[in-house]
Amino acid sequence: MNWLRPLGQTGLQVSCLGLGTVKFGRNIGVKYPRDFQLPNDRTARSLLDQSWDLGINLLDTAPAYGSSESRLGELLRGDSREWLICTKVGEEFENGESRYDFSPEHCRRSVDRSLKRLGRERLDIVLVHSNGEDTAIIENYGTLQALSELKREGKIGAFGMSTKSVAGGIAAVPQCDALMLTYSLSHREDEAVMDACLDEGCGVLLKKVFASGHLTEDEADPVLATMRLVLTHAATGSAIIGTINPAHLEANVAAARQAMA
Ligand code: NAP
Repeated sequence: MNWLRPLGQTGLQVSCLGLGTVKFGRNIGVKYPRDFQLPNDRTARSLLDQSWDLGINLLDTAPAYGSSESRLGELLRGDSREWLICTKVGEEFENGESRYDFSPEHCRRSVDRSLKRLGRERLDIVLVHSNGEDTAIIENYGTLQALSELKREGKIGAFGMSTKSVAGGIAAVPQCDALMLTYSLSHREDEAVMDACLDEGCGVLLKKVFASGHLTEDEADPVLATMRLVLTHAATGSAIIGTINPAHLEANVAAARQAMA
C-alpha cells in the first residue's frame, strides 16, 4: 500500500491522508463533540507545515466552511510547495445558516470566487457540495455539466461530488472524476459506492472517517482501527481528516503508517 495514491484517473497523486479545514474557518453550526476556537494564523500555518512535513499534500476546503478558503489563500500565498486543494460548489454558509444553489450560473461564480480566494489559476479538484438530494442534483441542475465545462476551459483539474446517499453516489460515479464519500467504523453503507468507483476508475476521497470526532468506543484503539478500515480499501485515494490539534495530526499519520505496514 502506497502513501501517495492515484486519485482515480485524474492524474493526481494524493497523500492517503488529507487535511480537512472546516475547523480553520467555521465553529458555528457544526456537529463536533466540543466547542472550539478557530486557530490563529500562527497555529494554522504551523498545522500546514506539520501536515506537509508528515507527507500530506491534500487540503480540503469549501465556501461553506466559513473563512476556510480565504484563510488558506492568505496562508499559502507565496508557498511554493505543491499542495493539491479540493474545494466545492453549491453550499453557502451565511449568517449562521446553509443555503444551497446548484445552478450552473452559481457554480461558475463560485469557482471564480474560489480561484480568487485561494490565489490560484486553476483549482485541482472541485466537488458539488450536496445537501442530501444527490439524485435530484445530478438529474435536474446541470451542476456536473457546468463543472465539466469549467474543466474543459482549464479552470479546474478534476471534478465530482460529495454525496450523502448510496443511490446518489452510484448515479454520480459515471459522470465524475472523483467522489467524496462517508466511511467510518460506524458508517459503511458507502462501500457499495467505493466498489463502483473502483470498477469505473473514479477517485475516492473519504470524509468523516472519525464520525466527526464521535469516535467509536467499541475499539481499544479507534484511530488505528479506523485507519485499518479506510486505508486498506482498494478504492481509497485519501481520507480527509479534520483536525486543529497537532498531537492528533501526528497520531493520525503514525496510525496510518502502522495500518499500512
Ligand atoms: P472527522 O475527520 O471524522 O473528525 C474530525 C474530528 O475528529 C475533529 O473534531 C477532531 O478534533 C477529531 N480528531 C481528529 N483526529 C483525532 C484523534 N487522533 N483523536 C481524537 N479525535 C480526533 O470529521 P469532519 O471534520 O467532519 O470531516 C473531515 C473533513 O471532511 C472536513 O474537515 C471536511 O474537509 C470534509 N467534510 C466534507 C463534508 C462534505 O459534505 N463534503 C462534510 C463533512 C466533512 P481535533 O481538532 O481536536 O483533532
